[in-house]
Amino acid sequence: MVKQGKTTYRRKLSPNEIRSGYILITKNALRVFPNVGEPFKLYVKSKKFNVSIKGVSCACMGPGKPHEHYRIDASKFKDRLPSRMWTEIAIERNPGGTYVFVSK
Ligand SMILES: [Zn+2]
Repeated sequence: MVKQGKTTYRRKLSPNEIRSGYILITKNALRVFPNVGEPFKLYVKSKKFNVSIKGVSCACMGPGKPHEHYRIDASKFKDRLPSRMWTEIAIERNPGGTYVFVSK
C-alpha cells in the first residue's frame, strides 16, 4: 500500500478508473480533501477543473454489507489521465486550497 501524507494523496490508477474516468479516494485519504460533496479546484496539466468527492454506494462486500466508495469524477479530464494502467498518480493540496494532479 502506498503511504499517504497529510496533504498528498497517491495511488496507482486501475484499468477501470482509466477506462471509466474516475479517481478512487480511499477512506483514509479523505482527510486530504474537502468534505464529500464540497467543490474544489483541481489543476490537471495546468488546466483547472471544478471537482468534488462523491460517495457511490457499493455492494462489493455482499448484499449484507452495503457501504460507500469515494471518488472524483474525472470524465471531464479523462484525456489527461495516464493511459497506462497502474501508473502512480498524486493529488497534492496547495497552500491556497487548490489541488494539483500529478502523474508520471
Ligand atoms: Zn465496495
